[in-house]
Formats: sequence, C-alpha cells, structure tokens
Amino acid sequence: VSGARAGEGGNPAPVERLIRAFVQMPGIGRRSAERMAMHVLRADAQEAAELLESIRDVRERVAPCSYCFNLTDSDPCRICADDARDRTLLMVVEQSRDLVNLEATGFFRGVYHVLGGAIDPLSGVQPDDLTIDGLMARLDDPARHCGGAAVREIIFGLNPTLEGDGTALYLGELLRKRNITVTRLARGIPSGSQLDFASPAVLADAIAGRHAMEGRT
Ligand SMILES: [Zn+2]
Repeated sequence: VSGARAGEGGNPAPVERLIRAFVQMPGIGRRSAERMAMHVLRADAQEAAELLESIRDVRERVAPCSYCFNLTDSDPCRICADDARDRTLLMVVEQSRDLVNLEATGFFRGVYHVLGGAIDPLSGVQPDDLTIDGLMARLDDPARHCGGAAVREIIFGLNPTLEGDGTALYLGELLRKRNITVTRLARGIPSGSQLDFASPAVLADAIAGRHAMEGRT
C-alpha cells in the first residue's frame, strides 16, 4: 500500500538485520522472514513491546526442570510436581518438544526424562552431552526422583532414527544391571521419521503397543 518494496539487499540495515535473525529460525526461509519483518514494522507499539518482552521472558524465566530436564517456568515442572502421575513409569525422550507432543495424546500418565538430544557421533553429540547422568541418578537415588518413588518401568520414547536407536542401545546397556523393565514405543511411527511429526493418535497407539527391548526378559 505504501509502495515500499522489500527488495533483497535494498532494505534499510536494521530491517535486513531482523530478516537475518528470523532466517536463523528453523523452517523459516528468506520469504517468510521478510514477511515477519514487515509485520513487525507495521505492528503498533504495544504489539512490538509484547514480542520483545516475550523473547526476554523465555530467556530469563524458562530453565530445565531439576528432575526431568523438561523446559519449565517453575521448578519442579508441572508434570514432576503432579502427585496424580505415576512416578514409577518413566518415559525417556530426546527433546522437550517430544514431551509436548506425547502430552498432547493425553494418554501417558507417567513422568518423563528429557535427554537433550540423541547420541550422534557424526555431529559430535556424545553421551556426556546428554542428561544421562541425571537419569541414572534418578534411578539409583529415589531422593533425586520426583516424589521419591522407585522407577519400575522405563519407556524409550526416542525417535525411530539411527541416532534414536543407537541411544536406546546405549541406555539399554546401562540399565541392564538395574532391576527395571525397559520398553520401547511400538513402531506405529514410520522408521526414520520424527516423533515431532507423528499425530496424537499414532503416538497413543505407540504408547499402548510398547514392547520389551530385544534381548531382555
Ligand atoms: Zn520435571
């Protein structure tokens, strides 16, 4: 309407800087970044202030839960603090967003442990980079586990990828000596895809159809 055009390279430097910041975000291409920057430019002062404040807030107030490492603005997180959850049943996931997707199924009543990724030697992600020590501490010392309960079953809610499978094998080995049932989500999820993109119905089936890890009794 104003006749201003967002030609690449023809933007004022601050606008170009904002576009580049948006391009860093996952799934955002140049075109989308330009549209987002234009939206911010046209936003009224209150909307722009709200955006700034929410970015600052998320950085300052959100941190990993000291039990499960889920990102939370209260510690322990709402799930760990919930007495109605079955704390003897622990689902291990790679990322907080996997937990969010699993929670969306409304089907799982246990608690979680967020690893912070999967073992991926090619990308330099080693076991030490994940919250595996925290997981073992929760199993070995009930005081380090929410509600002080002993864990009876661990479900691997890991992605059906090479990295997810490798991580499950590694953890399976660590858990072998402990008296805990270890299961994996059923493969309703196509191999190689991400939990991220599975629908709540597929995830609910995967939880219901979980099975013991191979080579275990
Ligand atoms: Zn928690």
